[in-house]
Amino acid sequence: MNQPAAEEQIIFLQQIQRLFVEGEFVATYKFALLLSLAELAVEYGDDSGNGLPLSMLRVGEKFAELYWRQLAEYSAGLPDTTGGVLHQNHGAQAAVVRSLRTIYRATAGKLSLARLHNAWPSTVRAVASTIRTMPLRYLQVLGGKLEPFLYSYPCRPGFIDLNPGVAFNFRRYQGLIQHLARAGWVEHIRSNKQNAPMLGQVDDLESFMFGSARAALGDVARVLAPLQNHRCFYCQERIDQRAEVDHFVPWVRYPRDTAHNFVLAHRVCNNDKRDMLAGQRHLESWMSHLEKRGNEIGGQLLQLGFVTDPASSIHVARWAYEQGVDTGSIGWIARGHTEPLVSECLAVFRRPGGCLQPS
Ligand SMILES: [Zn+2]
Repeated sequence: MNQPAAEEQIIFLQQIQRLFVEGEFVATYKFALLLSLAELAVEYGDDSGNGLPLSMLRVGEKFAELYWRQLAEYSAGLPDTTGGVLHQNHGAQAAVVRSLRTIYRATAGKLSLARLHNAWPSTVRAVASTIRTMPLRYLQVLGGKLEPFLYSYPCRPGFIDLNPGVAFNFRRYQGLIQHLARAGWVEHIRSNKQNAPMLGQVDDLESFMFGSARAALGDVARVLAPLQNHRCFYCQERIDQRAEVDHFVPWVRYPRDTAHNFVLAHRVCNNDKRDMLAGQRHLESWMSHLEKRGNEIGGQLLQLGFVTDPASSIHVARWAYEQGVDTGSIGWIARGHTEPLVSECLAVFRRPGGCLQPS
């Protein structure tokens, strides 16, 4: 284990702070790059403390996903404001927005359709190329000096190599970094004079930019119902039309729609679970559910345009449960019943054959 010592973690956090205070942000790219790297560390990294290579295309796709909802016209709905697409740059509109706009229009703003569009790969390549020439170069410039504390720079072609310890820190301090980067991004948009005609005096920018971009889940419910034998994932009783699609790892812990994280549950079960992680027995049945049905779920939800990488969903779950155990979280069992999350529940992630192949 090469996990960074406590002092090294503090130095990392200090450098992250410096990045916000001393970094120069002409465009919102740096916030998006930081968020992308932090999320990919959760989805593909581990807590060994080792370095983590990330392909530029993977980073480009994550970047596109972050900007996607901000391509919609923002309207504050206030007197003296006009609707429009937010400016992500102090000069001309950001190149990433221009790259994404065509496919955004072609798919009526549906990311699930865009992923299946034949122009998606070239769009992601264009986004990756903007990342390479802009934020990748400037993200780590603090007080005018290059401080390569996240990744070595210049980068090897086609990759960003996170330094040893960085994925560990991103995973441990995910919530903090998400908050800092989102707040910085919102503030950047707000302080850009070109956005003034759209914003007015008060606004709900944060929820517009990052809020609840939950995918339309009706189609997901239709796919999952037969695969769960028309039974609630949690209580195993029959479900009716009022069943809801639940994020197994709650949305507040990790705000991303991935195919294998969806389960179908009674509305009452789902509401009672709220933002809690499910208890150990549910975690175990989720893992065996994925072993049995994972390929079918992935195949069908891919058609609906969802991200279908079971290994990444399991990775995120493992990260969330490890955090839950570390911080003494409560696991939800049934209506009105919870249990403390204990380290025994992590054993399920170490079981042989517990890992699925990416589809
Ligand atoms: Zn139920």
